Amino acid sequence: MRNWLQTLSYRFQTFMYGRYGVDLLSKHLNIASLIVLILSWFIPELYLLALALLVWSTFRIYSRNIYNRQQELFRYQNFIAKLRRRLNLLKSRFRDRKTHRFYRCPGCREFLRVPKGRGEVHITCPRCRHEIVRKT
Ligand SMILES: [Zn+2]
Repeated sequence: MRNWLQTLSYRFQTFMYGRYGVDLLSKHLNIASLIVLILSWFIPELYLLALALLVWSTFRIYSRNIYNRQQELFRYQNFIAKLRRRLNLLKSRFRDRKTHRFYRCPGCREFLRVPKGRGEVHITCPRCRHEIVRKT
């Protein structure tokens, strides 16, 4: 004999069959929606944005186009990784601001960290071997 909770759970499982489900992006969209909802107490116009984020997240969870949802997740994860790298760079630039100088490699745009107060130095990029001369 089944109780109503088991019946409900079974119905939900059959409903979710073949659908994408919850992933990191959906979770973050839900959290963002909640934050925007709280902000909309002060700026009422934001209410629509909170609703849109919630609808987007819900659409992704019940979507049957699993491939497209996975591609979205990959793009989002790449975006997060890039953001994290930039943040770490900013942190280390701030931490070493008195002892090091930071230059950008003209060849590959990589950041180069050189100790300050060494006069004119030849800097070789570790990634692309491009050489630059700078005063530190
Ligand atoms: Zn380089």
